[in-house]
Amino acid sequence: MKNDLIDVLIIGAGPCGLFQAFQLGLQGINSHIVESQSDAGGQCNELYADKPIYDIPGIPHILAGDLADQLLTQLKPFNPTFHFNTAVTHIVQCDDSTFKVHTSTNTTFHTRHIVIASGAGAFTPVKMRLEGIEALENTQLFYKKVAPDLCAEQKVTITGDTADALKEIINQQNTAAEITFIHRKRRLPDDVDLVAEITRLQGNGAVKVIQGKITEAIVEGGTLKKLLVTDNNKETIEVPTEVLIARLGSSPKMQNYSDWGIETTRRHIDVSTNNFESSIPCLYSVGDINQYAGKRKLILCGFHEATLAAFAIASRLNPESPVHTQYTTTSTQLLQRLGVTKET
Ligand SMILES: Cc1cc2nc3c(=O)[nH]c(=O)nc-3n(C[C@H](O)[C@H](O)[C@H](O)COP(=O)(O)OP(=O)(O)OC[C@H]3O[C@@H](n4cnc5c(N)ncnc54)[C@H](O)[C@@H]3O)c2cc1C
Repeated sequence: MKNDLIDVLIIGAGPCGLFQAFQLGLQGINSHIVESQSDAGGQCNELYADKPIYDIPGIPHILAGDLADQLLTQLKPFNPTFHFNTAVTHIVQCDDSTFKVHTSTNTTFHTRHIVIASGAGAFTPVKMRLEGIEALENTQLFYKKVAPDLCAEQKVTITGDTADALKEIINQQNTAAEITFIHRKRRLPDDVDLVAEITRLQGNGAVKVIQGKITEAIVEGGTLKKLLVTDNNKETIEVPTEVLIARLGSSPKMQNYSDWGIETTRRHIDVSTNNFESSIPCLYSVGDINQYAGKRKLILCGFHEATLAAFAIASRLNPESPVHTQYTTTSTQLLQRLGVTKET
């Protein structure tokens, strides 16, 4: 339980959640960001990191993954606290209008304001469907990037039709005793440099590549010993395995927000376009999860929503003092907050 009362908790580190933290920072407000994934970027990172986006104002084109990185760089001066690998499971409003926010890691946050920036839903890794394998998660089976130390001198099997699977081979190549890469699709992911590197590693024997389907995990005494793979010729191959890294991609799971007492329309949160507050006071919502007349699921629309929500939260925190519009080019206060000039 995190007992400290915080000002703002943002649910989701997609582009809109990240820009929300930036806009709150400009208002002098610290935030915490809770994200179910192990890194930030939302759909930009999970679904199309290597594709260019052409409609971010002032940026002719940028790879989606790079946009996520730039948003992180932009909000660095404000140093929000990230809580990765943590999904918000439910919220409860207290009698004093603050919120208790409960998570999948059994932590509870106490916050004055919430901004839901949950977009398409909480991304979670696609899991393997093999009997007896679930019990091995985080000991011999991993769905995330794995530290090479953990695979040192081990027989490592990497599986998946994703660029992340290829990157994992490169990540483990210097420490693993042997690496087998199993992929199902005929074509490897569309990344020329990565594929060239894997072909080179295959050529010098550093990695064995099998196109086929893992059909069975042989577990003895609670320990994974080998995998049975049916290859393209319908032959069964035994692959001795001590560590299995499955990079099968991720899929989003959408929360039913009406279960949290929030008014919704077709599972999206109804908000006021004045300040992007939901039907619950002090609970705001920005980005793809929003619903209002004219809503478009575009990144720049979410950026606008985050900006107005930050102004509204600043007013709520300091009801006595009006929140003026200030320019980052000319405002001494904003330049100090951004760390461009020092406080005098
Ligand atoms: C293929 C593709 C191409 C696109 N191209 C463009 C484009 O060119 N231009 C454009 O403007 N838009 C584009 N979009 C849309 C754009 O990606 C979305 O509008 C944008 O990602 C929405 O951002 P968001 O922050 O609202 O949500 P998301 O990007 O969905 O991020 C939400 C984050 O919240 C996390 N989360 C959700 N629920 C929880 C929870 N309960 N607890 C903790 N974390 C949670 C998720 O894991 C995720 O990381 C494209 C989308 C796709 C799929």
